[in-house]
Amino acid sequence: MFEGKVALITGGTSGIGLATAKLLVARGGQAVVVGRDPGRGAQAEAELGGKGKFVPADVSNPEEVKKMFDEALQWAGKLDFLVHAAGHTRDKLLVRMELRDWEEILGVHLTGGYLCAREALRIMMKARAGAIVFVGSVVGLTGNVGQANYAAAKAGLVALTKTLAREAAPWGIRVNLVAPGYIETPMTAALPEKIRAEYLARIPLGRAGQPEEVAEAILFLLSPQSSYITGHVLCVDGGLVPCT
Ligand code: NAD
Repeated sequence: MFEGKVALITGGTSGIGLATAKLLVARGGQAVVVGRDPGRGAQAEAELGGKGKFVPADVSNPEEVKKMFDEALQWAGKLDFLVHAAGHTRDKLLVRMELRDWEEILGVHLTGGYLCAREALRIMMKARAGAIVFVGSVVGLTGNVGQANYAAAKAGLVALTKTLAREAAPWGIRVNLVAPGYIETPMTAALPEKIRAEYLARIPLGRAGQPEEVAEAILFLLSPQSSYITGHVLCVDGGLVPCT
């Protein structure tokens, strides 16, 4: 289904991003995976065989983002999809949150989303085709104690999704967002056991999600199967929050 299709996947060297890259490649596509850790990048590239290319970049840095799109185009010759999955957390109660904690998290998730979407749309608008999926979070819909920076950034991505869906529609480009709940990845591996048990107790399906389950939702939103869906927020959370 994805033969000849190329995706740039930020955060594609780990967790949800890497699972998405692997699924895309397994279904015939090619993936440019972006991350900050060259060791993990080399490993991801090897796991993707000849169908994957690692490009190192910090997605909150405008020059690095521009360069990474140039490198992606040089390698693949085209770009059909953008998946923005890069991210990390700096959890603290707001009263203890330094401005740098705020700016760092807004920088990678939201400013990174804006920078990557701007470059991707310039390419996709010329082709009059393409699709973008942002990886948000249910926390961007509900808020969460200790995550004011992360929740605000993820909520911002929802607004960015809905705005870009309207702006890009005349060019036949769709823009959607998946909002994962509690997914087992390196990001959540560091959670204390007590917090993990609290999350699990609140999930109607009674278990954590796997990165492959989020990847399936992302590929659906990139595929022709979702050709009439844009500006949508798709929760992949085992029923954790009422997703509107
Ligand atoms: P992960 O730690 O496995 O992967 C994150 C990736 O982002 C890594 O490849 C890392 O190198 C990259 N990254 C971080 N900062 C970067 C930067 N400034 N520039 C470029 N790359 C950067 O985590 P994950 O769980 O796979 O998370 C992927 C996305 O899913 C994130 O946006 C996260 O907020 C979101 N999410 C995860 C969960 C979960 O439960 N795991 C839940 C909701 C949302």
